[in-house]
Amino acid sequence: MANGGPAPGGPAIAVLGSANMDLVAYVPVAPRRGETMTGRDFRTVPGGKGTNQAIAAALAGGRVTMIGAVGDDAFGPRLRDALAGCSVDTAGLRTVPGPSGTAHIVVDDEGGNSIVVVPGANATVTALTPGDERRIAAAGALLLQLELPMAGVLAGAEAAGAHGVPTLLTPAPAVPLPDGLLARTDVLLPNEHEAAALTGHRDPHRAGRALLDAVPEVVITLGAAGSLYFARGAEPVTVPAAPVRAVDTTAAGDTFAGALAVARGEGRPMAAALAWATAAAALSVQHTGATSSMPARAEIDTAAR
Ligand code: ADP
Repeated sequence: MANGGPAPGGPAIAVLGSANMDLVAYVPVAPRRGETMTGRDFRTVPGGKGTNQAIAAALAGGRVTMIGAVGDDAFGPRLRDALAGCSVDTAGLRTVPGPSGTAHIVVDDEGGNSIVVVPGANATVTALTPGDERRIAAAGALLLQLELPMAGVLAGAEAAGAHGVPTLLTPAPAVPLPDGLLARTDVLLPNEHEAAALTGHRDPHRAGRALLDAVPEVVITLGAAGSLYFARGAEPVTVPAAPVRAVDTTAAGDTFAGALAVARGEGRPMAAALAWATAAAALSVQHTGATSSMPARAEIDTAAR
């Protein structure tokens, strides 16, 4: 991992999100129902969309605080250490009785995977503590995803709105959204599948236009094709991704979200912020893993030149 501390004066970013230990088994072919097989390899990797975005933003130069929960099992301290090791403040990451969130991932030799996510401690984050609210109020942006209970996500968005803190929401996994959430979102960051699920439009141009009814700014990420940026009253902007040899696109969207929050927090114009986030995400797909593939600020700067 490209371990790097945050820039001392970097933008303050709060992340309200999940912390999961990814338990990854590598098998020749995925087992069928009722079948037991011997795997080739096993890894435990800190993950969850909240953790991923927090680490991406910290490596990109943000001063990041993570709000969420881990369990009182062996994974809890490892998740906390993974965040702290990337200079993410974990004072808002509580430890609750029971298991940490886990993602049980089976990867076959063709790179296909199947995943069971057990929320564990993440399921307890249904409301904010006064400390959480203070952390959000002190931030220049709040990053949200949908791996926590909707009540918790909504409470975060409401706190951000009450304190004038802009929110960037990654609507993943694709689940129905309560009306109030999009109304409190400043930048929506779906991939093309999530955009289609939210709007019923497979064409990202139509999906983006439809989402602008609810959110002032929308970025639809399109994998190797880059992204499309929509803002009210403006023509959509296509942001191409550099052609790179992608070996693992896990957490490309989370790397993009973390870097985008930092660039905006630094006051860069959106076109420049998107180009920088796109460079960060393109770097991440050239390495395996989620947080292990994320670039540090200097690497992003070099790639974005
Ligand atoms: P998610 O990981 O959420 O599914 P995407 O696959 O759309 O999101 O990827 C997010 C961003 O990562 C894209 O907008 C793009 O900038 C970058 N990216 C993803 N895949 C590639 C790739 N193969 N080559 C270059 N950049 C990529």
